[in-house]
Amino acid sequence: MNIYIRCIIMILKSVPSLPLILQGRFLLLYFMKILKLNSPNFDKRPDNSSIDTLIIHHTNMQDADSALKRLCSPEYTVSSHYLIDKHGVIYQLVPDHLRAWHAGISSWRGRESVNNFSIGIELDNQGAEPFPLQQIDSLIALSKELITKHPIEARNVIAHYDIAPHRKDDPNHFFKWELLASEGIGIFPNINYTAKQKVLSNLSYEDIIKIQHKLKIFGYSINPTGEFDFQTARVIIAFKRHFCFSSFLNNNQELWTLEAEKKLNHLMSMINEES
Ligand SMILES: [Zn+2]
Repeated sequence: MNIYIRCIIMILKSVPSLPLILQGRFLLLYFMKILKLNSPNFDKRPDNSSIDTLIIHHTNMQDADSALKRLCSPEYTVSSHYLIDKHGVIYQLVPDHLRAWHAGISSWRGRESVNNFSIGIELDNQGAEPFPLQQIDSLIALSKELITKHPIEARNVIAHYDIAPHRKDDPNHFFKWELLASEGIGIFPNINYTAKQKVLSNLSYEDIIKIQHKLKIFGYSINPTGEFDFQTARVIIAFKRHFCFSSFLNNNQELWTLEAEKKLNHLMSMINEES
């Protein structure tokens, strides 16, 4: 069954003479099949917990089949609710209402153990490669369905590295959060300015406290210490990977830049408007 659906999607998407409505997203949405697999790696969510967060991962494995094998094998005790392969085929491994084991030690907006209240989506990716359009189209379609079904706020559509900045870096910097936000999924500060890579140095104790405080309000697990310590460096790397990807690779990742400062301030005003 899997292979038939995969073939139909691939053949139809490769025919250029098909009318536009039968191509791309329309076709994908029409044919969006979620293939069910049964991972044994789950348990019950805590009583009275609701699903309000969506976590995006990349698999960091050779291919989708290897990742599916691992995520469905009892010996690894890891899983996710969904996996999307590079052709855009969506697999569901654990039903939404159960707790998949994808986040590990994690925290967001003051709550620990993000598995309790989140859905995890894995993207088939070897770790340092771009995400194909078909895969992102499926992610957009699936995410739209999930944020309609569950009360997931835009600011709670985040990366594995956002909730575990000290140990995770997925999805990689090729992942386009801005594109997702333009489809109504997640939050992204769109602002134009020059000199965005300018590093803000010689910040005072009070300046650093303010940055830490804002990062904490946005959701990151960070203690306002007034110092650019290790925990702050890791959170800044996560923040820049998510919101400053164009300059992320161009300077030391943990340096605080004008772009980061302006985008964090813009996010603060966006979440204030939301609440
Ligand atoms: Zn991950």
